[in-house]
Amino acid sequence: MTATPPAGTPDRIRLYIGGEWTDAVDGDTFDVLNPATNEVYLQAAAGKKADVDLAVAAAKKAFDEGPWPRMLPRQRSRILHKVADIIESRDDQLAEIETWDSGLPVTQAKGQAQRAAENFRFFADLIVAQEDSAFKVPGRQINYVNRKPIGVAGLITPWNVPFMQESWKLGPALATGNTVVLKPASYTPLSAALWPEIFEEAGVPAGVFNLILGSGSTAGDALVKHPDVPLISFTGDSSTGATLSTNAAPLLKGLSLELGGKSPAIVFADADLEQALDATVFGVFSLNGERCTAGSRVLVQREIYDEFVAAFAARAKNIIVGDPQDPATEVGALVHSNHFDKVMSYVEIGKSEGRLVAGGGRPEAYPEGNWVAPTVFADVAPTARIFQEEIFGPVVSITPFDTDEEALVLANDTRYGLAAYVYTTNLKRAHNFAEAIDSGMVWLNSNNIRDLRTPFGGVKASGLGREGGYRSIDFYTTQQAVHITLNDAHSPRFGKGPDAATSFKKVN
Ligand code: NAD
Repeated sequence: MTATPPAGTPDRIRLYIGGEWTDAVDGDTFDVLNPATNEVYLQAAAGKKADVDLAVAAAKKAFDEGPWPRMLPRQRSRILHKVADIIESRDDQLAEIETWDSGLPVTQAKGQAQRAAENFRFFADLIVAQEDSAFKVPGRQINYVNRKPIGVAGLITPWNVPFMQESWKLGPALATGNTVVLKPASYTPLSAALWPEIFEEAGVPAGVFNLILGSGSTAGDALVKHPDVPLISFTGDSSTGATLSTNAAPLLKGLSLELGGKSPAIVFADADLEQALDATVFGVFSLNGERCTAGSRVLVQREIYDEFVAAFAARAKNIIVGDPQDPATEVGALVHSNHFDKVMSYVEIGKSEGRLVAGGGRPEAYPEGNWVAPTVFADVAPTARIFQEEIFGPVVSITPFDTDEEALVLANDTRYGLAAYVYTTNLKRAHNFAEAIDSGMVWLNSNNIRDLRTPFGGVKASGLGREGGYRSIDFYTTQQAVHITLNDAHSPRFGKGPDAATSFKKVN
């Protein structure tokens, strides 16, 4: 087990406000634990309302008076490409740090670091290619759109793949000219503390990026309720999303909510079964199963059910669970002992709800710590809690079906609607089934492979609004319509009177 932090890991991290590192106003700190050892390795400044007030004031000043919102898109784009270059050049270091803080397997953390760079590159390109419509009413009007940044964006992010999640919001928020206050999850603040140095080196002006560490119910809450923060982009649990929605409502804020999931992966008998097996096993056990789009309910057609369950269980038993820093590791340590307890409680519930065919507890080699053996329950009924509730760990339920109709009912039978995966070689079935699923995203014959131009988000309890491509640009900007009149006679002349005595020319 790697028990020492990566080189350069600080033992204390602070808030970053207006281009300066600073302690919390009240001097408070909180403990950050290493998921592999559950030992405290870091003290982080615990931001509260007073700190959020300072961060928002700095971001507002940078927005109202600073150069960032006034730069040409090309100027901001150049700086954001530098951000991407810096992230790419440090992907190994970033992966090590992220792995140390989150328990993610290091090879997967490296992939996420590269994706973080791509998020900046993508939005840096998009803002220079951005066009808005102009509309002509022949002889009467030309109308066009002014697209403007909105102000201080509050970005609140979860602990799973933290650096990448943060980049997914920072990229478009900054590209469009807003200034930001980022509040990362308190389990995983370490990689967030790398942003200030990256932004400074790339040339982002002071005050544009501000970092508040601390708990959601104090720091996050103060950001959501701050009157000078017109936008909140949140990724996290569905119940937290509902609380945020209530708290933001009195101030009528722009709100984007990326929430939980319990996504189905439907395997038809006519699928390429080897490909379906690769994708469904990876789909639920990658990123430790701590993945919002995990295919955590696998629905399998009866003809191939026994064979598929057996193959799935064999793969799950063979997964390498181990030291997150070991490149061979496929499943690492869960992020925190509280989360470990939650996942293990579902493993216990599952034992009375389904047939355990793999895992079911800690792996033998790890009698202590936050390790869960990849766990597979077969024959799970749709009424089961492990079928309905988001577990957010390496636990999957498998359920048989006979017909397309039955598969669709099962697929849609949860409060969530984030992603879905369909495996079939029948083209008509694939497209029709995809359309009928209540989910924000569907992948046909693959695991979650993103195209950043497509809308990302969920329906039902999985979220509100869409990010991705131009939808992110729409969320982080306001569109002002400007109308130019080309003729001079289209206002009805109210109050003119019968003798035209009140015409402008006569009165004057
Ligand atoms: P969480 O809701 O507990 O916390 C998310 C963030 O919100 C954290 O920064 C937290 O400090 C903050 N927060 C908590 N309470 C708050 C409040 N009252 N006001 C303001 N901020 C508050 O979620 P988590 O446990 O960190 O993350 C796991 C969840 O995130 C899972 O449900 C997962 O599905 C979801 N998720 C969704 C997506 C997506 O894109 N749909 C992506 C990743 C994770």
